[in-house]
Amino acid sequence: MSASAQLTNLLGLSVPQLESFCGEIGEKPFRARQLARWLHKNGVSEFAGMTDLAKSLREKLPAVACVQTPGIIHDNTARDGTRKWLFDVGQGNAVESVFIPETDRGTLCVSSQAGCAVNCRFCSTGKQGFARNLSAAEIVAQLWLANRLLGADTKGERIVTNVVMMGMGEPLLNYEQLVPALKLMLDDHAYGLSRRRVTVSTSGVVPFMDRLSQDCPVALAVSLHAPNDNLRDELVPLNKKYPLRELLDACLRYLDHAPRPFITFEYVMLQDVNDRDSHIQELIGIARHVPCKLNLIPFNPFPESGLLRSRDDRISRFVERLSAAGIVTTVRKTRGDDIDAACGQLAGDIKDRTRLAERSQSEKIVQWVPGRTS
Ligand code: SAH
Ligand code: SF4
Repeated sequence: MSASAQLTNLLGLSVPQLESFCGEIGEKPFRARQLARWLHKNGVSEFAGMTDLAKSLREKLPAVACVQTPGIIHDNTARDGTRKWLFDVGQGNAVESVFIPETDRGTLCVSSQAGCAVNCRFCSTGKQGFARNLSAAEIVAQLWLANRLLGADTKGERIVTNVVMMGMGEPLLNYEQLVPALKLMLDDHAYGLSRRRVTVSTSGVVPFMDRLSQDCPVALAVSLHAPNDNLRDELVPLNKKYPLRELLDACLRYLDHAPRPFITFEYVMLQDVNDRDSHIQELIGIARHVPCKLNLIPFNPFPESGLLRSRDDRISRFVERLSAAGIVTTVRKTRGDDIDAACGQLAGDIKDRTRLAERSQSEKIVQWVPGRTS
């Protein structure tokens, strides 16, 4: 599956883009749909195996196109069945995808960037800084590879039923590559996932929330993490650019187009930082303004953060008081943390492998918190 620079990597082309590509090489538009089905539904990468394409096209394709995926550096399965892959995206950069099997669904957590420029206080991806945007092909390849490695058969039996853009990176800061990738996830000739089963998670890049609502309104999760501007400025530095009032108004505008009638607010629980009773009151105020569900995420510690996970009784108090106020509140289960696959533990710099290994040793000490769900 190697490629030279002149070849077009078909994995990243939405079906309309594949149609244009077919036009450019003198083929009819319907060939695009056939190609999409072979590539994405059947997971076939060899043109010779695409048996219902005209023989002349099968012979033409290798000179102009390729199907190229990142290499696999690690493939680990946790005790709870969570599976994590580390993919090589070149020049010392790597990104991670995590598959979370549940009885009624299989969720793939997909990365959008190598590193992240937003630099949230509690996030190990943020601590790495920003390396580069992934291409649409590199985003889709994570889903393509996961289906293949999980053993989806060639009839396209669904193993990954849901995609969440909650891996490394801020998806809305890689908008041009994100949208064709999302469109392929939704397209019936490709992965055919419903808009409710594809979620973009954002730290709150307001202008691109508006654009997404027009271009590809999938389910939206917003990383709130603080209920007032002073605290959010500290935890999510992007708040200085797009403060809460603007973010919440953008959520309301998004809801006019969203596939579900609520926004999911994510709220990482940090001991003595954002877990006080006064924060509960402020959160109730926000939830009165924006129809939402609240997903509390027990913080996954890493030593450099200097932060601790909220105590279990604080998390329970949040759930009780917010639920009593009529807000649907859930606590995210920590999955796959024995293989560093939990939220905010994704670290993808291969140059940094040694440090990563040291880190997971020290995490065994830090992660003593009782009541872990994994
Ligand atoms: N950049 C996007 C999506 C990737 S982060 C965003 O911020 O929404 C996915 C989720 O993991 C976010 O809600 C993020 O806040 C959360 N997260 C990051 N670091 C974490 C940590 N150490 N513990 C728990 N959750 C974390
Ligand atoms: Fe980037 Fe999201 Fe991590 Fe913030 S939480 S640094 S936006 S990946």
